[in-house]
Amino acid sequence: MTRYTAPTQDIQYLLHDVLDVANDPTPGYAELEPDFTSAVLEEAGKIAGEVLHPLNAVGDQEGCVLENGVVRPPKGFKEAFDQVREGGWTALDLPEQYGGQNMPYLLGTAVGEMFSGANQAFTMYQGLTHGAASAILVHGTDQQKDTYLPKMFSCDWTGTMNLTEPHCGTDLGLMRSKAVPQDDGSYAISGQKIFISAGEHDMAENIIHLVLAKIPGGPEGIKGVSLFIVPKFLVKEDGSLGERNGVKCSKIEEKMGIHGNSTCVMDYDGAKGWLLGEEHKGMRAMFTMMNEARIGVGMQGLAQAEVAYQNALDYARDRLQGRSVTGVENPDGPADPLIVHPDIRRNLLDQKSFIEGARAFLLWGAQMIDRAERGKDEAAHGMVSLLTPVIKGFLTDEGYDMTVQAQQVYGGHGYIEETGMSQFTRDARIAMIYEGANGVQALDLVGRKLAQDGGKHVMAFFDLVKGFIKEAGTDGAMAEFTEPLKSASKDLQSAGMFFMQNGMKNPNAALAGSYDFMHLFGHVCLGLMWGRMAEASLKALAEGRGDANFHETKLATARFYMTRRLPATKLHLARIESGADPVMALDADRF
Ligand SMILES: Cc1cc2nc3c(=O)[nH]c(=O)nc-3n(C[C@H](O)[C@H](O)[C@H](O)COP(=O)(O)OP(=O)(O)OC[C@H]3O[C@@H](n4cnc5c(N)ncnc54)[C@H](O)[C@@H]3O)c2cc1C
Repeated sequence: MTRYTAPTQDIQYLLHDVLDVANDPTPGYAELEPDFTSAVLEEAGKIAGEVLHPLNAVGDQEGCVLENGVVRPPKGFKEAFDQVREGGWTALDLPEQYGGQNMPYLLGTAVGEMFSGANQAFTMYQGLTHGAASAILVHGTDQQKDTYLPKMFSCDWTGTMNLTEPHCGTDLGLMRSKAVPQDDGSYAISGQKIFISAGEHDMAENIIHLVLAKIPGGPEGIKGVSLFIVPKFLVKEDGSLGERNGVKCSKIEEKMGIHGNSTCVMDYDGAKGWLLGEEHKGMRAMFTMMNEARIGVGMQGLAQAEVAYQNALDYARDRLQGRSVTGVENPDGPADPLIVHPDIRRNLLDQKSFIEGARAFLLWGAQMIDRAERGKDEAAHGMVSLLTPVIKGFLTDEGYDMTVQAQQVYGGHGYIEETGMSQFTRDARIAMIYEGANGVQALDLVGRKLAQDGGKHVMAFFDLVKGFIKEAGTDGAMAEFTEPLKSASKDLQSAGMFFMQNGMKNPNAALAGSYDFMHLFGHVCLGLMWGRMAEASLKALAEGRGDANFHETKLATARFYMTRRLPATKLHLARIESGADPVMALDADRF
């Protein structure tokens, strides 16, 4: 019904022409030559297109079924999961010590986009396991790492994250789940968690739940929250599986999209758990998982936009409606294809320019994560921390909008289920909500990240943009790209200045503009990426290197972004500078 073709050429271009990974290697990994990355991407692309995407609609239509405490994912998921596992795709970028392949996070992210674009609901089983394993890797004891990581890296055991409770999602300080210390050093975990992705299923031998709970007598609120490892089956000393733990799935949620992923209500009834990290420092440990997960969710926004665009583009080329106003283009047919119409082209270019810009932004972010984590580069760490809410919030909002635009290309045929276009929109919608709803990402950006470490990371970002503009030049061939970027970056600085001047006196003045700021920031990031891509393509054309058609297309798309999308920064700035008054004018009972 729908198709997914992995964007390998674009990813190869970003890795080698733009990010130059062969000459600027990931610390501790020097093998990112074009032939090598191409082989990995081609292979991953085959799995995405041939194995995972055919199951996308199946997952949507069948959903997951809870029977006698066991959740059955849709038909074909288990076999595909085995194939992904056996191919070694589940721990591409994790350390060899526990069975991973030690490739850069950058490459794991590129492959992740393909798998997620092909089938988001399916890929979440693996993605959550990756996040849980990363948290154990950073915060676990040697014994915990030896016990859990080899099985989690291979996805023989999958992982979950359990934060949300019926009365608390954003405000986790209200949490009620309890962890009572036991004589043997373990804790008895009781409470209810809701909306737990991949909480129960039969595709793995065991499920390792990471659960936030409060140890009685600890500090009030969020400072009293600790993180625990709670396996579905207890693990014996020899590594074999023992008795069933006191945790079960009591319900799976009916929901708008990602039907192939089981979203579970999990009841913990004195379940045996072991502390991960320090007592009362659960949020710190959970953040290891959440930061990775936020980048992964940003990726989902891009990935759904990509698959929706591919199908909308096919449709726009095939569907015959109306005639071009500047002369018939398909004289042998009863009408011209949709793609001749300027408004359809505007729509498709909105999608294309977002997707390619977002992919560059995501992979640049992933490259910085490698520098931060493997190279212990503090500046990269600070930049990633600043940009994480932008990657999550901007890419998922825009990604969702782009799936709606792709539906629009189909007209009424996009709204009915038969074409498969509505699934992309329904699946993309959740990414704006989980891992911290996007309003909360904006709050994090403006309330915490801007001022972090004395504001030095945001200053470093401005320096980076300025440095790029200076080096690329504001005259000659680059002028049409660097001038709009300069203007947008000024808007971002003006917005930051407005917050500095007004936010201290009245925090609402900053928070009322936080969402616009996140989008303004996102546009500047994509503007920077399009500037870098324009520079790379101009260079390749000048050197007669690569596929000229590809590079010309990049330049035309860069022009579109600079002229049609980037000016959005002006609107966002105007809204930000209107301050708190228009937003706060009404008393709650006058809404
Ligand atoms: C399909 C699905 C899968 C999920 N998977 C998981 C999972 O695996 N593990 C897990 O623990 N949770 C999971 N969640 C839960 C998800 O992370 C939460 O729903 C989300 O964090 C928001 O919490 P909430 O629903 O309680 O909304 P609330 O916290 O009640 O927030 C409601 C709205 O108010 C806004 N808001 C809240 N506080 C503020 C504030 N101070 N300022 C401004 N705006 C604010 C939010 O942005 C949001 O828009 C999942 C949810 C769904 C639907």
